[in-house]
Amino acid sequence: MEILDLASIDRDFIKAVEEESGQDISLCYQCGNCTAGCPYAFAFDIPVHQIMRLIQVGQKEEVLRSHAIWLCATCETCTTRCPRNIDVARVMDTLRIMARREGMVSEAGIRRFHDDFLDSVKRHGRVYEVGLLLKYNLQSGRPFADAELGPKLLGKGKLHYFPENIKGVGAVKEIFERFAKKRGL
Ligand code: SF4
Ligand code: SF4
Repeated sequence: MEILDLASIDRDFIKAVEEESGQDISLCYQCGNCTAGCPYAFAFDIPVHQIMRLIQVGQKEEVLRSHAIWLCATCETCTTRCPRNIDVARVMDTLRIMARREGMVSEAGIRRFHDDFLDSVKRHGRVYEVGLLLKYNLQSGRPFADAELGPKLLGKGKLHYFPENIKGVGAVKEIFERFAKKRGL
C-alpha cells in the first residue's frame, strides 16, 4: 500500500472539484460500483472509483494527468449505480474541464477531436462530418485513416460532400462568443 505524504494533499483541488461539479466527494465510500459498471474500465489507467479516492486525498496532478478522464464516454452508468447518489460522470466532466484549463491533457488526440468538432458546430450550426474527419486526420498525421469507409457512407447518404449550414447558424455562433467572453478566452 502506498503511504501518502500529508504535504501532497491539495485541499484547494478538492474544494474546486466539489464546487465546480456540485458533488460532495467525501460521500464516496469506495464500494467500487462505479468501476464495476463502467464499460471503459478495461481501458482506464486509473479506475473511476480510484479517481474518486485520489480526489478525496487531493492528488491533483495524478488525477488531471490521467488518461481515464479522457477515455470516459459520459455514459453515466457510474452515476446511476452510485449508492451515495454522487453524479460521478459529472465529476469526470469537471476533471476534463480542469485538465484543459491547467494544460494537463494527457490525450492530445481526444482534445484535438473535441476542438475540431466544436469548431465545425460553430461554423455550420451542426457537424460537417467530412470536413471534421479530414481536418482531424490531417492534424493527426494520418490523412488516410478510415478512408475506406468514406465511399460506403457517402453512397448511403450518411455523409455529405459539402457542408450544410442550419438556418440559425448566427445564433449558434453567438452562443460560442458569449461563452468565450464569459471565460475570458
Ligand atoms: S460515465 Fe465515464 S466513468 Fe462513468 S461509467 Fe461511463 S465511461 Fe465509465
Ligand atoms: S459507486 Fe459511488 S460510492 Fe461507490 S466507489 Fe463509486 S463513487 Fe464511490
